[in-house]
Amino acid sequence: APRQGMQRSGRGGGPGGSVRGGFVPPFVRKALDANNAKGAGKDEPEGPLSAKTLELLAGPDGELPEALAKVEPQILEMVCAEIMDRRSAVTWEDIAGQDTAKRLVQELVVWPMLNPHLFKGARAPPKGLLLFGPPGTGKTLLGKAVAANIRATFFAISASSLTSKWIGEGEKMVRALFAVAGVLQPAVIFIDEIDSILSARKSDGEHEASRRLKTELLVQMEGCDPSAADRRILLIGATNRPEELDEAVRRRMPKQLYIALPCAEARRAMLERALGPEGGVRAALSEADLAKVVEKTAGYSGSDMRALIQEACQGAVRDVVAGQAARLASLSEADLRPVNLRDFQVAARAQRASVEPSEVVRYEEYDRRHGARY
Ligand code: ADP
Repeated sequence: APRQGMQRSGRGGGPGGSVRGGFVPPFVRKALDANNAKGAGKDEPEGPLSAKTLELLAGPDGELPEALAKVEPQILEMVCAEIMDRRSAVTWEDIAGQDTAKRLVQELVVWPMLNPHLFKGARAPPKGLLLFGPPGTGKTLLGKAVAANIRATFFAISASSLTSKWIGEGEKMVRALFAVAGVLQPAVIFIDEIDSILSARKSDGEHEASRRLKTELLVQMEGCDPSAADRRILLIGATNRPEELDEAVRRRMPKQLYIALPCAEARRAMLERALGPEGGVRAALSEADLAKVVEKTAGYSGSDMRALIQEACQGAVRDVVAGQAARLASLSEADLRPVNLRDFQVAARAQRASVEPSEVVRYEEYDRRHGARY
């Protein structure tokens, strides 16, 4: 589900705040174990590696590579649970708009990964890339598209899971994450909400465990080098609070790309795609209708658009099913009336823009000061 506005779990007041220097109160530990057992190592949370994980990580000799031999099996299981399916590839065409970002990302990180020999010395790429902007604008999609393009293994982890879900284990998780990425390279590691780890703010939450997590991530970033023949790992961080990042982070991630709300053309592209043959629904919107929807959705994020379209398409089903739910099972697309402008007008009442205009001003200001230019 898209994150709403600037809200987020996992920071400060969460359970992480009660942990100091690795001590985990028994009640938290219990919850943690339950949580971990639910997540990755369901079958054998403490025991040896599951067959699936072993198959993923083992070398041709069937043994675990040396780099992973010392990592706790449970942590390895968790890291492997964060690896995205390599087959669910995202293409550049799946991302509407964001043309500048797509071009820049290709030059900065895709080219060097495809030909490390050309991109060294003065042409060496940055070790990490930062994508900033409102939630639901395609930052994760961009990360996946990069990974698919260079046939890299894609790891996606949200910082709140490092800071709160695995209390006190975040540092170990990060180390294991980069170790596994090294084994499965080329790899793209996508860290969402990266500001919550690399924040400059010394808040109450800045206790020992989160300080160690931050240091570990900075150390691991140093070792990333998309142009090195022996260690092709690219870190992509995403944030919707870029101004909270530490100076040290800005130095390490000199390229910061603003991923803005979709422009009119991008919104139109999303609509046309969903309502065209690929979308699988029948629609009857004239050119003028489409233009109206595009205009009405100024300020919508990509995920708002997706929700709006979904809601609008639902209207046609509701009309038929109303009062006779028994028919539902035998309905096919041909029994439905085409989706029309009115469906969008009704849907727009339920699905409004989730990003405040004032937030957009804030991003634009940050972009003027720190954003990468093309
Ligand atoms: P972010 O990482 O910026 O919060 P995501 O990349 O996770 O956002 O996008 C969430 C969902 O919203 C995507 O899975 C996609 O369905 C839709 N979406 C967002 N931006 C776009 C876009 N530019 N083009 C197409 N779909 C988008």
